[in-house]
Amino acid sequence: MAGRAQRGAVQPRDIQVIGHELALKWDDNSEQFVSLETLRRFCPCAACMGEKDIFGTTYKPPERAYGGGAFELAALHPVGGYAVQPAWRDGHNTGIYSWEWLRRVAGAEAGMAGGGCDGHGPGHEHHQGHGQGHGHACGGGGRGGRPGGCGGH
Ligand SMILES: [Zn+2]
Repeated sequence: MAGRAQRGAVQPRDIQVIGHELALKWDDNSEQFVSLETLRRFCPCAACMGEKDIFGTTYKPPERAYGGGAFELAALHPVGGYAVQPAWRDGHNTGIYSWEWLRRVAGAEAGMAGGGCDGHGPGHEHHQGHGQGHGHACGGGGRGGRPGGCGGH
């Protein structure tokens, strides 16, 4: 792992907090939204993730108690052009999210929400379902939250 500046890597063109989501716009014109809660749960710092190899484990954040403000951003600091470091309102600020990690987290959240529902424009709404069963405003059923099926509107 010598070269850290990957030429081909996708860079964010714009990152901003919209409501309680982080909106990511990438160089390749793709866009991702990830809720701040998910972002915090995937905090890659050693205190949150332990000593495990974060890229070797499955995306299952540890169960832990979060204090008030844990899912609210106080600030978002750029780190050396390869990452951002969020400062959370509960005082936690040791997680550094590389671009790749952001994409993985956003992708993991999309997977958890049931996948394949990209008919939402900017400003789509998630029900703020805590824990599992991220209520996704798609399909209109809302029963049991079947993953992966938003085919037939
Ligand atoms: Zn952390």
